[in-house]
Amino acid sequence: MIRRGEDYIRSIREGNHPVVYYDGKIVENIADHPAFRIPVRTTAEYYDLHWDPGKSDKLRHYSPMLGEEVSISFMIPKSKSDLRKLAEGLMTIYDYYRGFFGRSPDYLNLWSAVFAAHSDYFAKHFGSRYGENAIEIYKQHAKKDLFFTHAIVAPMYDRSKPPSQWPDPYIWAGVVKETNEGVIVRGAAMISTSAAYAEWLWYLPNIRRDTDPRYAIFFAIPTNTKGIKVLARRGFEPRSGYSEFEYPISSKYEESDGLLIFDDVLVPWENIIFYKKPEEIENFMWHEVRLRSWFNWHFVIQHYCRLKFLAGLAISVAQAAGIDSFINVQEKLGEILIYLALNEAAIYGSIELAEELPNIVRPNAQIAIAASHFNMKALPRANEILRLISAGASIPIPASIKDFENPEERAYIEKYLAMKGINALERVKLFNLLWDVIGSEVGMRYEQYDRFSRGDPTIRWAQTYTEVYRSKHDELKKIVKEILDQMPNPKQ
Ligand SMILES: Cc1cc2nc3c(=O)[nH]c(=O)nc-3n(C[C@H](O)[C@H](O)[C@H](O)COP(=O)(O)OP(=O)(O)OC[C@H]3O[C@@H](n4cnc5c(N)ncnc54)[C@H](O)[C@@H]3O)c2cc1C
Repeated sequence: MIRRGEDYIRSIREGNHPVVYYDGKIVENIADHPAFRIPVRTTAEYYDLHWDPGKSDKLRHYSPMLGEEVSISFMIPKSKSDLRKLAEGLMTIYDYYRGFFGRSPDYLNLWSAVFAAHSDYFAKHFGSRYGENAIEIYKQHAKKDLFFTHAIVAPMYDRSKPPSQWPDPYIWAGVVKETNEGVIVRGAAMISTSAAYAEWLWYLPNIRRDTDPRYAIFFAIPTNTKGIKVLARRGFEPRSGYSEFEYPISSKYEESDGLLIFDDVLVPWENIIFYKKPEEIENFMWHEVRLRSWFNWHFVIQHYCRLKFLAGLAISVAQAAGIDSFINVQEKLGEILIYLALNEAAIYGSIELAEELPNIVRPNAQIAIAASHFNMKALPRANEILRLISAGASIPIPASIKDFENPEERAYIEKYLAMKGINALERVKLFNLLWDVIGSEVGMRYEQYDRFSRGDPTIRWAQTYTEVYRSKHDELKKIVKEILDQMPNPKQ
């Protein structure tokens, strides 16, 4: 089924969300609360996009396995042409978001589809029921068009030791007990974006950081299950009295984040897909399921759409201010456009060089992962370029739309705040947009997200050598060896 926005909002109003703490209280009405109403509305727009006559062709997909039409983001691609359709569907969504709002429902829809396509992997390594679980969870997820969030990372208590050696090993979520019905999970995950207004969650800890088997538990569960709690961060919605005029990005793409707690949560056996075999994490993340290639591929699509927007913003500012004739500014505009072109190439290259597996066609891992990790530095650099080219002019912008409503003040604004290429109203709108990208709380949060949402950049860049290209080391060295072998040796 494909839901409409109103179906999702109704579900949230009916209580299909976790217990959320905010300002010392449990939030009674998530859908209307100032800290959550923006992402709830934007999520509703995601569902409505699937009904938009101009976009629905790209966003709907008939699934033979499910026997009905579902969002394209639930597709299990069986050919390169399917993979291309999936990419184009995701681009339609992220063009709508201008590359923001990366934890929209499609992100975890893709994960559930990948897990279902690899049900034989879960059956082979963990037991047949886990394979069936992967398929059943996918069917339920897609047929009800549910909004899933996810959580992976242990709280930052002491990164110098694994969580099992912390004074309380259940700061990070782990299994405390097995029962006939399932397992009891206790502990927390450091951060989960959109947990406050998601209906289900995937919990998939990064057990490579600690191979104690108690942490080796991957499951999907409704967020309103007893014991699931979220400590939400302060909302970054526009400050009171301001609107889309002053905060065009914050007013649409604020995504809430929070600490996710499992307070002795019973996870039924049928909700689990991975259990007790920490050594399998390598296969899951890097080889057989290779989840890394999928989520990084999704990120590259988000980034490509964001870079289109950032390039447009930089060009608009530079042309309006008459600085685009300076070589140093041209160089910086060119730099953003180079990132844009490389991301476009990565998307289509990863499809062209995709791996054709028996149950799914997977985007080329090396390309998808390298591009996503490159963007950990490219996106913050694009923001830096916006700061460098707008310089001091990014700051003295009148406080609000009301400044235009005072005729005396407006006369000054129109004289002194116009730019060569645009009038004062256009300029104030443009610079409010700019500031919401490079300076507001939402802008800064996105910059942190761009750097860290796929892990720490230092470790990820190093993994390009130690993991992603490991299988190619010999092939690459052989090129050098051939030249070395052709070089003459000294006479004995
Ligand atoms: C806005 C935002 C939203 C997010 N949303 C989600 C979400 O929805 N779900 C989710 O699961 N995660 C989410 N993440 C979390 C993200 O997965 C983590 O931030 C990421 O995995 C990095 O882990 P960390 O923050 O614990 O940093 P760490 O990996 O602990 O790194 C912290 C610092 O210590 C250094 N360091 C740590 N360990 C080592 C080591 N062994 N060797 C050398 N240096 C080391 C790093 O280089 C880095 O400078 C989000 C992050 C952000 C910023």
